[in-house]
Amino acid sequence: LTTADLIEEHRICVCVRKRPLNKKELSMKDLDVITIPSKDVVMVHEPKQKVDLTRYLENQTFRFDYAFDDSTTNEMVYRFTARPLVETIFERGMATCFAYGQTGSGKTHTMGGDFSGKNQDCSKGIYALAARDVFLMLKKPSYKKLDLQVYATFFEIYSGKVFDLLNRKAKLRVLEDGKQQVQVVGLQEKEVKCTEDVLKLIEVGNSCRTSGQTSANAHSSRSHAVFQIILRRKGKMHGKFSLIDLAGNERGADTSSADRQTRLEGAEINKSLLALKECIRALGRNKPHTPFRASKLTQVLRDSFIGENSRTCMINTCEINLNDIFSFFFSRLVKEFGISP
Ligand code: ADP
Ligand code: MG
Repeated sequence: LTTADLIEEHRICVCVRKRPLNKKELSMKDLDVITIPSKDVVMVHEPKQKVDLTRYLENQTFRFDYAFDDSTTNEMVYRFTARPLVETIFERGMATCFAYGQTGSGKTHTMGGDFSGKNQDCSKGIYALAARDVFLMLKKPSYKKLDLQVYATFFEIYSGKVFDLLNRKAKLRVLEDGKQQVQVVGLQEKEVKCTEDVLKLIEVGNSCRTSGQTSANAHSSRSHAVFQIILRRKGKMHGKFSLIDLAGNERGADTSSADRQTRLEGAEINKSLLALKECIRALGRNKPHTPFRASKLTQVLRDSFIGENSRTCMINTCEINLNDIFSFFFSRLVKEFGISP
């Protein structure tokens, strides 16, 4: 495969989504440092100061596969990111969609749905939208005759350990057999017959994920949530779609924190995000040696990074403040290293 083939095939798609300013930001009149001038360009305005102390904004532009401004709905983001990957799993492939970004930037809103108000609605998140289209696709004559069954799993990786969100956070072991197949022992794989079945599972998993938390964001922002839609034919895996709400990528806060536990968690998150980047890089280059074992996250996603028919999409959610600009460079790196020869 050449670079051109990879781009042509869209094996890796990297996007940015800017979330709307919240009430606090609006009332504080925070400086909005990100503009999306066109559908694939992000402009960052960095406040700088000259030697003579005059202030100015340094503008930098970055190009992505897609850039979504703050008026974009989940449905629109979905249509350009995860939607094209639904076909992949019907064609016996592995698809992965990540939401990456700082805590509070909109990862869970994008993947899981709207949890801001009293009426929590997971039907507008990418997990549910992908499930909806899987069931629509199943009705197509060419796929109907395959007689595929649909299953879902939902688990969390926290501090390098795996917990089943569909089984009261049971702690699970990860084993690698001789043939380098990775197995999460005892992971609940629930059969689903319609979108409503999936919505119920998402609700169960989400409430399990946030239960027992002292503050709303404490634990869930420091864990990766993995929701998978699995197609099986006569019991054998046909295709798998992994949809992942990654742990917050705020590094500065973690390393400077005085709390040992927090620092350790931060180090673990950095390790897994770095391992993920390396695996995505390897995927783009079609390299035979992919460093899966570097973290639990990449280890359990191993089968998604190998094979001819693997496709990945990354949605970098971002806030308007400068702390977040760091995360842009990650996406850009994936973009640059991921598809260059
Ligand atoms: P994260 O999972 O990255 O920590 P959340 O998804 O929890 O962030 O989002 C933080 C807050 O911002 C939530 O109250 C969420 O409802 C809101 N929010 C995030 N993205 C959007 C969006 N695109 N439109 C409206 N509200 C959003
Ligand atoms: Mg979240």
